Amino acid sequence: MSVIKQITVLGATGSIGLNTLNVIARHPDKYAVFALTANSKVDELADLCVAHKPQYAVIGSVNAAQQLKDKLTVLNVDTEVLCGDDGLCHVASHAQVDSVMAAIVGAAGLNPTLAAAKAGKKVLLANKEALVMAGDLFIQAVADSGATLLPIDSEHNAIFQCLPQTTNKSLSENGVEKILLTASGGPFRQFSAEQMRGVSPEQACAHPNWSMGRKISVDSATLMNKGLELIEACWLFDIDESGIDVVVHPQSIIHSMVRYVDGSVIAQMGNPDMRTPIAYGLAWPDRIDAGVEPLDFMQISSLDFEAPDEQRFPCLALARQAWQQGGTASAVLNAANEIAVAAFLNKNIGFTDIAIIIEQVLAKQSTVKATTIEVVQAADAEARLIANEIVAEIH
Ligand code: NAD
Ligand code: MG
Repeated sequence: MSVIKQITVLGATGSIGLNTLNVIARHPDKYAVFALTANSKVDELADLCVAHKPQYAVIGSVNAAQQLKDKLTVLNVDTEVLCGDDGLCHVASHAQVDSVMAAIVGAAGLNPTLAAAKAGKKVLLANKEALVMAGDLFIQAVADSGATLLPIDSEHNAIFQCLPQTTNKSLSENGVEKILLTASGGPFRQFSAEQMRGVSPEQACAHPNWSMGRKISVDSATLMNKGLELIEACWLFDIDESGIDVVVHPQSIIHSMVRYVDGSVIAQMGNPDMRTPIAYGLAWPDRIDAGVEPLDFMQISSLDFEAPDEQRFPCLALARQAWQQGGTASAVLNAANEIAVAAFLNKNIGFTDIAIIIEQVLAKQSTVKATTIEVVQAADAEARLIANEIVAEIH
């Protein structure tokens, strides 16, 4: 008889959160929802509590928490409401929790994701920004506590699936020569630099293959998503950025590949549906139904590949630069990007200003060793100040 696993879903109202709940709901014999969290969407979170009956719900502010409590009382739902960072860390590290889906977007996810790692949980990592900001501390916390870290980002999940599973050897000892990180190229893959100058947030958020939150959609359009993923892969697989090639593959059928010294290339394929990596993470090392359409090779007319154009998409080179700089540089890159993307979504800057702002912040701010979480948070805060100053100058 299988024991039902208790799952906390951080960022439950988002794209990854809802896909996670979709997979969980298919397997009531295996998974139960322990806690759900959202930043501000009271009604959505209340509806999810009705559907999934969690022990806890966590929301951003005290006011929102009161509204949620009132709503749940009317709906007769017996879920305890907490709020803020303390509430998030509580449900991420609670003794009754088996797995934590880390699906808050951006730096806001760092503390609860780290709390889950420190508490030795099975951490299903979608929140790539947490690893980009504090990779060293995060990987150390996982090692110290004996937590299990499973990548949910489709590319990293693919790479994980293409690597040997039952070994403690390093990648090179396993004969790995290169990681081939695939990228769709985003909605502006064929746009000129001039055309990209005038694009709107709506155009940037209309991704050709994936339906995602607005921030990661803009990241995909600038290719900063691939830059963040490059750094994420360096930490997850203990490899330098020089061991990772980015391959643009517009159909998003191959989700990434690993090339071995004997010439073998192993790829993981599937329809672009995040429920595949989510189901893999939930059930690992087993496999469960994810509700995903089977891949129909007769319907795929072709699989195309091309090199990324780093002139039109400078964010990729900026991410490689930040990784090479080390220390707090990746946290600075991430914070500058978050500010620039928010400013673009608010129509305060143009699309091509995003990379310019990140480059300027990286140039202005000196890098220090990321020894503690406080050091990382201070670098993050300083980068946000500098980035906001540049946004104000442009606006
Ligand atoms: P989203 O915008 O759809 O959802 C974000 C979630 O985080 C929401 O539940 C929101 O309430 C919560 N949140 C936002 N700000 C918060 C704050 N300050 N405090 C607490 N909670 C907050 O985003 P998404 O597309 O689901 O992406 C989530 C994470 O997963 C991101 O890190 C993204 O890079 C990563 N990811 C997403 C996809 C995808 O297909 N959507 C794929 C790979 C990785
Ligand atoms: Mg990805």
